[in-house]
Amino acid sequence: MNYHPDARGFYGSFGGAYIPELLYPNVEYLRKNYLKIMESESFRKEFRSLLQDYAGRPTPLYYAKRLSEKYQSHIYLKREDLTHTGAHKINNTVGQILVAQKMGKKRIIAETGAGQHGVATATVAALMGLQCVVYMGEVDIRRQAPNVARMQMLGAEVRPATSGSKTLKDATNEAIRDWINHPEDTYYLIGSVVGPHPYPDMVARFQSVISEEMKQQLLLQTGRSAPDRIIACVGGGSNAAGAFYHYLDNETVSLVAVEADGLGVDSGQTAATTQIGSEGIIHGSKTLLMQDEDGQITEPYSLSAGLDYPGIGPLHAHLFKSGRGQFLGATDEEALRAAFELTRMEGIIPALESAHALAVLPKLDLKKDEVVVVNLSGRGDKDMETYMKYNDSMQ
Ligand SMILES: *Cc1c(COP(=O)(O)O)cnc(C)c1O
Repeated sequence: MNYHPDARGFYGSFGGAYIPELLYPNVEYLRKNYLKIMESESFRKEFRSLLQDYAGRPTPLYYAKRLSEKYQSHIYLKREDLTHTGAHKINNTVGQILVAQKMGKKRIIAETGAGQHGVATATVAALMGLQCVVYMGEVDIRRQAPNVARMQMLGAEVRPATSGSKTLKDATNEAIRDWINHPEDTYYLIGSVVGPHPYPDMVARFQSVISEEMKQQLLLQTGRSAPDRIIACVGGGSNAAGAFYHYLDNETVSLVAVEADGLGVDSGQTAATTQIGSEGIIHGSKTLLMQDEDGQITEPYSLSAGLDYPGIGPLHAHLFKSGRGQFLGATDEEALRAAFELTRMEGIIPALESAHALAVLPKLDLKKDEVVVVNLSGRGDKDMETYMKYNDSMQ
């Protein structure tokens, strides 16, 4: 089995680049040059140095002692929550802003749902002094006011998408339209392992720093560089791709991807793409997505804004179909319980997204002395309002 894309960007039967004719030159230029840029000495030096001194890497690999005792195994947390801006997303935006610079682009566009990718993009655009426009559904702008304020303070222009359901997929359409109209000077910065080839591969490579560090840290702390299991939540799939990356070909490592079941897989209020989705094309790639009989994208639901996405990246569709990845789900309530458990047992308030990964610990038949790494993709500050609503029922 091969878990890396072929020349046309296919992971097995998923991936590729299904794009409007007008975008072809842009995507093709990126496809021909991304590896050359990423592998150049000057790029590697700048990327390393920004990850270290700006983003705060390497992030610790923390042995969660009390959690390990409870689940009778050795549980380590990869602390992406400790990065600048509070989540793994910064690894990717730092990488792509350098690519944009090397390509001579002056203007950055992005779309965002919850606003977290918008904030990470506005952050690196400010760092580099580049103009930044973030498309966001009108409904999301209302729901995510603190992130809108952050983007604006960072100097980005937040443009509302007013068509359709006024959420993420509509913002994506607006961003693509913008790119078609400004092909020369504009770079489209995608926030997960989604979109047309080469984006999924490029983003996975930027996030792969997570498992690169994990290997060295595990070796130092346990005497072996590979764990028995890695658990990560999946929205589009970038933090999971980064945590799995250097273990994809090592079949002794079990890869557990956790989707948001929302109110339950069969409730109609879910984001569990592998469970209720089917093959189709979304955001320029062939993958699994949630759609109705007419191929219209179904509005996803999760209490966690970052997992509220109607598809998954093509790598994950391939991991699912091939059986290399184990796909589990966690409901809103299970994730909330896991968030309170980690907070009370380890003094770490996780992002609600990351809490979905923690929520499967009781569902796995963990063996005694098994080494498990949970990728703690982000911190919970942004979710405090949600958590406080449930504080009394979590005593
Ligand atoms: C955005 C986000 C996610 C989901 O995105 P992926 O691309 O699936 O990683 C998960 N956790 C946090 C903290 C996020 O901000």
